[in-house]
Amino acid sequence: MRCFLAIIFATTMSILAGNPEDRLKPALDVITPDGLLAHIKVLASDEFEGGAPGSKGEELSIKYISDQFRAIGLKPGNPDGSYTQEVPLAGIKSDPKIALIVNSQPNELKYPDDFVASSARLQNEIKIDNSDILFVGYGIVAPEYGWDDYKDVDVRGKTILMLIGDPPIPDPKDPSKLDEKMFKGKAMTYYGRWTYKYEIAAQKGAAAAIIIHETEPAAYPYSVVKTSWAKENYELDAPDKNKDAVQVRSWITLDVAKKLLAGCGQDFDALKRAAVTKEFRPVPLSAKVNVAIKQTLRAVKSHNVIAKLEGSDPKLKDEYIIYTAHWDHLGRHPELQGDQIFNGAVDNASGDAAVIQLAAAFSKLNPPPRRSVLFMCTTAEEAGLLGAKFYAQHPLYPLEKTLADINIDSMNVWGKAHDIEDTSYGFSDLDDLLAAAAKRQARTAIPNSRPEKGSIYRADNFEFSKAGLPSLYIGKGEHLISRAPDAPLRSDEFDLHDYHQVTDEIKPDWDLTGAVQDVDLLFEVGYQVANGDKFPEWKPGIEFKAKRDQMLKK
Ligand SMILES: [Zn+2]
Repeated sequence: MRCFLAIIFATTMSILAGNPEDRLKPALDVITPDGLLAHIKVLASDEFEGGAPGSKGEELSIKYISDQFRAIGLKPGNPDGSYTQEVPLAGIKSDPKIALIVNSQPNELKYPDDFVASSARLQNEIKIDNSDILFVGYGIVAPEYGWDDYKDVDVRGKTILMLIGDPPIPDPKDPSKLDEKMFKGKAMTYYGRWTYKYEIAAQKGAAAAIIIHETEPAAYPYSVVKTSWAKENYELDAPDKNKDAVQVRSWITLDVAKKLLAGCGQDFDALKRAAVTKEFRPVPLSAKVNVAIKQTLRAVKSHNVIAKLEGSDPKLKDEYIIYTAHWDHLGRHPELQGDQIFNGAVDNASGDAAVIQLAAAFSKLNPPPRRSVLFMCTTAEEAGLLGAKFYAQHPLYPLEKTLADINIDSMNVWGKAHDIEDTSYGFSDLDDLLAAAAKRQARTAIPNSRPEKGSIYRADNFEFSKAGLPSLYIGKGEHLISRAPDAPLRSDEFDLHDYHQVTDEIKPDWDLTGAVQDVDLLFEVGYQVANGDKFPEWKPGIEFKAKRDQMLKK
């Protein structure tokens, strides 16, 4: 790998050195601030209504993106001759009731102020009666950390109550810090995500899984849980109707949890302390739960948009790299006063614009890269990475012949930066290629600035990673050239005021020169992989490596 990198480095240096006869120059010249802005203006316009799956916004978005791919001269990405892959979704609106029974006293909880609950199973009615409740700590089984919260306890048919996040284990040498060797210290691992908690509950055969909400480890207040679960949500409409999912997935507030535990003669803080040790064992509570959920289901046909640039090497053209960015956003909310449209200009019209410009840039290469390059705009990312998940389950090209996913979700729109945040920093060889490319731009690749948010598990790249595919996911340049070094991060200001709000719109202070630099970097990484001599690999110890190694052995 080192030798390969050195050769790539040397050739790319000469290619990118600025010689006008460079083969890459015509490609890179295509990527411009105005070019990006033109696409963003359309995709984030009010007419596109915030791109909710299955809406008029979907029709317009997928038509616009397909038309762009066609105009660039790319082939349809679906072998059936179309530019789309149909993604069957089910809309689920849940109306749940939960009663906790402590000392034979049923206590009905208030929805959605005390709890939310729904089922990924595509059923109109879900019912659980008199199910025993067990507190299972963080609910984690992590062999690489020698961790098993369940031990030999059988939780089949029971209701498991668990903490959000992963165990914050103090460093034995300096207890004021977290142990970097356990659950990556301060950073969130996948074990900390709610999606993991419900997955392990299903694997363990639990009837219901209840997460105790806490603002800090969740990285958001209960109000976010409430608004995101108390509306219609989407799942993939699988032929088995998701019968293997846990029957009931629920969140309760910290207050409700504390009262429940106190009623059972337990103390929340004491249980939480016990849960931060390897010796923890599930604690049966003297409480039971009744759950009844009525669900209204709706079939929604949504679509990924995909195009292909065929590789020039007769042998390698059946190998692929894939660029992804989600086209969907939160749509239009008619109940809002004033502005009702979640335009999603940064999240993720900017990413789609980048993918379209990358497609245009690659198509200027003569000859094309040795391997084929796929460009995909996914659906239903905001609904739980569903378009990417569907592709990973139903790939149009074999994953074992796909070398990498390069995912783009929200570009830096505030000008050039000294650095580039690499959310997947240190995960795979792709991150080394990015770091080297950044260096050639006189920039540095830096790790995720907010690792506790677990961003890497919250974007489409994660579905590809989970399927084994080495994936690169950049954040934004954090230290802008136009700002004082100690000024607050512009991206933090965005997260605070505009992230997932109707105000995520094109703003007068935008400067897309930084986005162009970032797209150039991603072009270079993809170009190197598409022409390289080796498959990029996960670094040793990364949780997705075993899956990839197994896939490539076959
Ligand atoms: Zn996004």
